[in-house]
Parts: sequence; C-alpha cells; structure tokens
Amino acid sequence: MSDKNIVILGSGMAGLGAAHHFHQQGLATRAFDKNPYPGGHTATFIYDSGFIFDDGPHISFTKDPRLQDLFAENVGGKFERLQAYVNNYYHGAWVKHPAQANLHNLPADLKARCILDFIEASRTDVVEKPANYLEWLISVFGETFATHFPAVYGKKYHTVGPEKMSTVWIGPRLYRPSMEEVIRGALVEETPDVHYVSDFRYPSEGGFISYIKPFMEQTDLRLDHTVVAIDPATRTIRFANGQTAPYDHLVSSIPLPELVPMIAGAPEKVRAAAAQLACTTCVTVNIGLARDDFTPATWTYIYDEDIVFTRLSFPHKMSPGTCPPGCGSIQAECYYSPKYRPIDASPDSLIQPVIDDLVKIGLIRQDEEILHADARLIPYANIIFDLDRETALPLVHGWLDEIGITYVGRFGEWGYHWTDEAFKSGERGAKQIIERLAAENR
Ligand SMILES: Cc1cc2nc3c(=O)[nH]c(=O)nc-3n(C[C@H](O)[C@H](O)[C@H](O)COP(=O)(O)OP(=O)(O)OC[C@H]3O[C@@H](n4cnc5c(N)ncnc54)[C@H](O)[C@@H]3O)c2cc1C
Repeated sequence: MSDKNIVILGSGMAGLGAAHHFHQQGLATRAFDKNPYPGGHTATFIYDSGFIFDDGPHISFTKDPRLQDLFAENVGGKFERLQAYVNNYYHGAWVKHPAQANLHNLPADLKARCILDFIEASRTDVVEKPANYLEWLISVFGETFATHFPAVYGKKYHTVGPEKMSTVWIGPRLYRPSMEEVIRGALVEETPDVHYVSDFRYPSEGGFISYIKPFMEQTDLRLDHTVVAIDPATRTIRFANGQTAPYDHLVSSIPLPELVPMIAGAPEKVRAAAAQLACTTCVTVNIGLARDDFTPATWTYIYDEDIVFTRLSFPHKMSPGTCPPGCGSIQAECYYSPKYRPIDASPDSLIQPVIDDLVKIGLIRQDEEILHADARLIPYANIIFDLDRETALPLVHGWLDEIGITYVGRFGEWGYHWTDEAFKSGERGAKQIIERLAAENR
C-alpha cells in the first residue's frame, strides 16, 4: 500500500483531516494548495499593526471529545474556554439571541404580533415536508416573527429569499423556544442562555490556525500550486505554474463548481449541474480599535437591510492574544453571491461603509481611533441551500464516484460543514481510499 501515490488537493480542515488519517495509518501523502499560505478558511493573518484576524471568524465548538483532545494537543493545552454571549441588532433595538425568546426590547405592537402568531402556529404540528424554508419558518415560529427575523436575516446571509431555499441544512441552527420562554422573554430582560453554541474554544496564541499547524507536518505540502486540469484517464494533475503531478488516488477539497470543469471528459450535464451549485462570497472587513469596551457580545447578527454587514464578531473576545494590550477588534462579514447578489465593489471600498455603519448602530464613535482596517475577499464562503442544489448535487457526486475522485470538506461535499465536520469529512475520504487500497491488495 505504501508505494501508492496519494494526492490531496487543498490544505484546509478537510485536506488536513485526510492527511492526518493517512499519516496515522503510515501512508505518505502529497498535498497541493493554490494559496501562498496553508489552512484554507482556517488561515490566520498576523498584521504589523499587532492585530490578528482569521480568514472569517472561527471558533471551535466541536462536541466531539476526540477532536477536542486533538486540537488541544496541537496547541500544547493553551486555549481559551469561553461562553458565548450572542445578540441581535434590529432597527435600533439590541436583542439577546435567540430573538424570539428575548422580545423584551422590541416595540409593543411587534412583540404582540410575534406572540399571537406563535400561539397560532403552536396549535398545529410543524409542517413535515415543507415546500421551502419560508414555509418551514412560518410553521415553526409563526408568520410575524418568521417574516421579520429569520426570513430577513436569512436573505442577508444566504443572499437568496427563504422561498427559494430547502430545509436540509437547518439541524440545531434555529432554536424553537417554548411558549413559556417566549412570554417570559417578552416581559423581562434577563433570560437563560439557549443558543446552540453555548461554549467554545479558541487557541490562546496565534489565531485559529494554531489548532491545525501540526497536521501540516504530516504531509508533503506544496503551496502556490493552483490545479487547472485533472486527467482521470492518465491520472495526472496539471498546475497553473506548468508543473504536473501523477496520482494513484486523489482526495479533493476544491469547490465542485471549479473542480468539475477542470476534469477531462466531464459530461455536459455534469458541468451544467456543477454550475448550478451556489455559494456566497464574503468580504470580511477587519477593524482594530484602541479600546475593548464597546460591546458585551461575542458576536452580533444584524437584520437591517440598509446596513452593509450581516454579522459582527469580536476577535478580542476569543483571545486577548489577537490584539495589542487594551485594544479591541471587530470583524464584519458582508455577503454576496455570483448567482443571487453579485459583488460590484472592490473589498477595500467596503471599509468606509462598514465604519460608517458601525457608527450608525452606535458600536463605535464618530471620532473613534481606528488602529487597523483592512478587507479580504472570501470567494467561497457558505453553501447556498437553494432548491437547485437538491437536484444538481447527486449528479455531480455520482459522476465523481464513477471516475474515482474522492471529494471532501465543505466545498467537496457541498454542505454546511463546520471545521470539525470538514476535518472528519477529510478523514472519511482517507478511509474510503484505504478500503479501496485494501481491496486492490486482496
Ligand atoms: C465566514 C465564515 C465563518 C466560519 N466560522 C466558523 C466557526 O466559527 N467555526 C467553525 O467550526 N467553522 C466555521 N466556518 C466553516 C469552516 O471555515 C469550514 O467548515 C472549513 O474551514 C472548511 O474546510 P475545507 O477544507 O472543507 O475548505 P477550505 O478551507 O476552503 O479548503 C479548501 C482548500 O482548497 C484550496 N483550493 C481551492 N481551489 C484550488 C485549486 N484550484 N488548486 C489548489 N488548491 C485549491 C483552497 O485554497 C483551500 O485551501 C466558517 C466559514 C466561513 C466562510
């Protein structure tokens, strides 16, 4: 088995999950990444200003003890254990999360309609097979709350309306409170914490990437290698820098809409299906401030359509090691998508609108001292679970199975994977190949 040429495409969580599993089984691998830095979405950028920002806000909330131990070992036990305090900004009101269990700060009429519709929705069972996400939202939360909160936030975050989305991704992400929680939350300010991410971990030093650095030693990793063509007949990969690499077995975490057109002989209907798969593009705007007392929240959801960002995270809350002493930081996420909301601005041009909107919502002052500001584009951010995905994905996956390319991770499986799930997806991919190798040897 060990003379087999195993190649991994991508050095994010999924690629490294695969590399780690092969390594544990005594199998050598080579990995290639297009970026000049490793880690994919879990990369961390350390700036001369003294601020550290991840490539999008990243925390580890895995409940899997094996992964908790593995990540803890990778940072020599130096990590922060934190309780999340999450809030929402809704047209001038600050509302603890989840909003439906914390209606207290909202206008009386809106509160009353949210409660009355929730009572109405509770009289019938939640619709079992909803035609789309909107139908599910109304059935679970009642019309007023559904259409004023998750439907509006969802459209900002996913860039497409809930009437065009499926429900396969929801899992524990949306919390349905009890009647008592809704009523108490409308009457009093102090309520119990019920967010699905209650506690989490973050490396004390070096940003999120510290969790995965040791995995990078477990593979022969080549950066600056953009795959441009794959020939499954000759089992050869070609890179933009002119180099080629042969493979016996291939694990790919490259986004499917980019992977499929690279593969020689991809049938037209598979190419068309891959082109249907939609994903958001995120611009993160990173702001460093001279103070750290501007919010009680770990992160904040923003509902207003006229505010450029959808979510705000505060890296100084993850670890003080991400900022110079006494300073604080904000990471704003602004969402677009080629299919539904194409971006028509350069990332840098969003810096000032983000600062202006931070002033508008009262988080920072007009004359605030800003010590750091930069913007980064994340071309592939979150999978959009539109109705096209449900028909297109099986076609793409079925064909990749036929030609023996193992797809892993958020953009290979095309799912909502968090970091731990992406890592495990990579491990699963490696296991599949090891089983194939064992079968070949029998
Ligand atoms: C804004 C944001 C916030 C998030 N927050 C959290 C969080 O708090 N907690 C959490 O657990 N998860 C979070 N996630 C999810 C997490 O980032 C992903 O689940 C995980 O990092 C995906 O890993 P991956 O390896 O599947 O994909 P990626 O990290 O994208 O890895 C794919 C790799 O393939 C490489 N590649 C692509 N094309 C080519 C090519 N042509 N040639 C060579 N290489 C190529 C890329 O450079 C990349 O390194 C967040 C995601 C986003 C977008």
